[in-house]
Amino acid sequence: MLKRYLLAPGPTPVPSEALLAMAMPMIHHRAPDFLPVLDAAKKGLQWLYQTKNDVLILCSTGTGGMEGSVTNFFSPGDKAITINGGKFGERWTKICKAYNLNVDEIVVEWGHAVKPETVEEKLKKDSSIKGVFVQASETSTGVYHDIKALAQIVNKYENTILIVDAISALVAHDLRMDEWGIDVMIGGSQKGVMLPPGLAFVGISEKAWKSAESSKCPKFYFNFKKERENLAKNQTNFTSPVTLIIGLNECFRILQKEGLENIFRRHERLANATRKAMQAIGLDLYPKESPSNAVTAVCAPPGVDGQAIYKNLREKYGITAAGGQDHVKGKIFRIAHLGYADTFDVITAVAGVEMVLKGLGHPVRLGSGVAVAEELLLK
Ligand SMILES: *Cc1c(COP(=O)(O)O)cnc(C)c1O
Repeated sequence: MLKRYLLAPGPTPVPSEALLAMAMPMIHHRAPDFLPVLDAAKKGLQWLYQTKNDVLILCSTGTGGMEGSVTNFFSPGDKAITINGGKFGERWTKICKAYNLNVDEIVVEWGHAVKPETVEEKLKKDSSIKGVFVQASETSTGVYHDIKALAQIVNKYENTILIVDAISALVAHDLRMDEWGIDVMIGGSQKGVMLPPGLAFVGISEKAWKSAESSKCPKFYFNFKKERENLAKNQTNFTSPVTLIIGLNECFRILQKEGLENIFRRHERLANATRKAMQAIGLDLYPKESPSNAVTAVCAPPGVDGQAIYKNLREKYGITAAGGQDHVKGKIFRIAHLGYADTFDVITAVAGVEMVLKGLGHPVRLGSGVAVAEELLLK
């Protein structure tokens, strides 16, 4: 038998309470039973997003929320800045180009965070830029972009909106939609909110709704105006993903019991312990600055294949982490500490990495990382 541990940056483990809630008999999405269910989810999302704005619930993975955030606020030919510091930043560029936006891509070296001044300079030169697209946590590199600073800049421009892919950052990072002035913020169910894949969330500011009025991109399934009208009646435009929304409410019960501040503190604590433990093993962290609290990207030691580390973790010890993508495939591996994660998820991951490295013939003192993680996670 191989007991499984899911420590990937999505999908993440689902708490039993949510699994059990989702096992209840089906209810109809237009029947009165469903109205309070959607109402609770709506309120839970506003709590998590720290917003009074609408947060739409879409039946798709996170990328559907990203695509809808291009098609509902923009028109072909609109100028937009995309910040590409990894696989998911690149996805913004691809989606914008697919809908014929006029894309000015800021390429950020992998492992680094965007310099907010770069965005500011571009906006100063051209205030006709309609949108700035960025990730909060760039999952492929384990880097967090400074959303607060970017929001401060974009807020100065009346006709520019900031669109944040917070799919892996939500729950792991404090993202204050209203206070900071984030215009569009996207989440997904299989990351911090501890659910199976299948839901996308999109928080939308009044400023963004104004941009929506003139949007001419083609749209049908992801029609945010129609979703907003339906949301006001505790409905969704098409058949609601009823089961996942029931699970979402259960997860909100767990998260709200902990409280936002404690949730962010927990993620910071787990991320910090993971980073320090990896360094104690003698490994380098991949991010050169601003590491994410959702996922830790670690460099494979010279002579050791990063893919072998990730594969051995899974095959020998049942630990599903993640490898590297594109040009860092084989060079890094990634460990998530996101959502339903606590002390012994970190200890498990650190111990697993030590044992795998030893198995691959790399000199490592067993327990060196675990000891550091234990110290840092003592209560
Ligand atoms: C997981 C993830 C996505 C969305 O991926 P889906 O497979 O569509 O759910 C987008 N952006 C980031 C930063 C992610 O981590």
